[in-house]
Amino acid sequence: MQVLKGYIAGRWMDSISGERLVVRNPATGEKLAEVPWMGEQETREAIDAANAAMKAPASLEDRRRWLNRVADALDAQRDAFARTITLEQGKPLRESLAEVSYSAGFFRFFAAEIDVLLPREVKNQAGAVHWRVHHRPAGVAGLITPWNFPLAMLAKKVAAAMAAGCAVVAKPAELTPISAVLLWQVFARLDLPPGLVNLVMGQPREIGQILCVDPRVRLISFTGSTAVGRLLNAQAAPHLKRLSLELGGNAPLLVFEDADLDATADAIIANKFRAGGQTCVCANRIYVERKACAPLVERLASRIAALRVGNGMDPATHIGPLINRAGFEKAAMHVRDAISRGATRVVGADIVEPESDFGFFFPPTLLTGLRSEMRICSEETFGPVVAVGEFDSENEAVALANATEYGLAAYLFTHNAERAARLAARIHSGHLAVNTAVGPTPEAPFGGVKQSGFGREGGVEGLMEFTETQTVATAASN
Ligand code: ADP
Repeated sequence: MQVLKGYIAGRWMDSISGERLVVRNPATGEKLAEVPWMGEQETREAIDAANAAMKAPASLEDRRRWLNRVADALDAQRDAFARTITLEQGKPLRESLAEVSYSAGFFRFFAAEIDVLLPREVKNQAGAVHWRVHHRPAGVAGLITPWNFPLAMLAKKVAAAMAAGCAVVAKPAELTPISAVLLWQVFARLDLPPGLVNLVMGQPREIGQILCVDPRVRLISFTGSTAVGRLLNAQAAPHLKRLSLELGGNAPLLVFEDADLDATADAIIANKFRAGGQTCVCANRIYVERKACAPLVERLASRIAALRVGNGMDPATHIGPLINRAGFEKAAMHVRDAISRGATRVVGADIVEPESDFGFFFPPTLLTGLRSEMRICSEETFGPVVAVGEFDSENEAVALANATEYGLAAYLFTHNAERAARLAARIHSGHLAVNTAVGPTPEAPFGGVKQSGFGREGGVEGLMEFTETQTVATAASN
């Protein structure tokens, strides 16, 4: 078993207390590594280092070079990263390979787009003053990420911060810190100023609290639950700190009668079972126009029945284990709740909770008869459960889609282009996919509305999150 370290001020560091956390494989329970269990003091030291590194922002050329080198390293070590992701997170290896390429894409994209940070001359200037707009680094950034994409969630934040010229203090999820350490091993081989990228692992509440209250941290970029997002928002509010919050979702997926049902079923399977259903963009509620419902359910049933659940390292596996007991219990509770309120289980073995603390393999499940009073309609399931309800009209479909406090992703399947355009404007979500269930991509902004948070990741917008706009007005005679 490896003993890993955090990274502060350009040096690999243990926790001051010497305390460590054991990281285990969720499929087998095997001990994978020990990581330091850090807290307040290490976080302050990391902020000191980050603040010092901000004193002299690197040139755009240096930043571009670093970003490209990280992307090259991720591509070159794709297999090693993917194995680590699968071992600590549980997802099938092919999905981990895709996650590594996706992560490299953020570094590559921001490198390619970095010239948007060049100062902009204000056009059509009249009078005796000349105006120029600069995109300065926003300052030290605190990054907090979840366990479902151990590499990608960090990559999209660090890549944007590095491009913008911000030093970071990053805290990965305690369940999946090994991918983060691997990424930092790549950073450690670059000629980065010490303190530009700091990695702390440990007590979430303490680390989060310091990042929120220390005035030198100017923004916090968080991906995780709405509950923790709200807490960070409240803690940071007195300090007028900028936040970018990518929180929970409850994605609706609408299928109209005129959709290609085979393609729709394929898209639903790809979307819904990615990471075993543990992504914030997984469709939580599927609503189908009444006449198309039975034929779509039939197509889904045969596909779901063929899915294999198992260890993500086995090439035959489609769905790995859920991350832990809490995740398993929540998905089980959603299925039981739906059935007790009249849903029908069309596919799905009995749910048997393991006694051990690993191997939370959840049977892929298809439910029909979804109704709004079921918990699936108001909470994120985060498991391999496909829940299908029906609608009769376009207006009803829109009302169902919007009947959630969340607004992250939504999906629409119809071959009527006018309807798609009409509905896109009426559905309240940051991400809307039409006739595809594709999730985010490095080149386009992604983020939520309502209780799914605010701020965007990816795209030029994601880069701008880490900048501060400064307008310089100069007397024209100078
Ligand atoms: P999930 O339920 O998906 O684990 P969380 O929001 O609990 O989502 O976790 C996402 C990230 O937030 C993780 O890195 C976790 O350690 C961190 N986190 C959890 N609680 C806090 C907190 N009180 N302050 C700051 N970060 C936290």
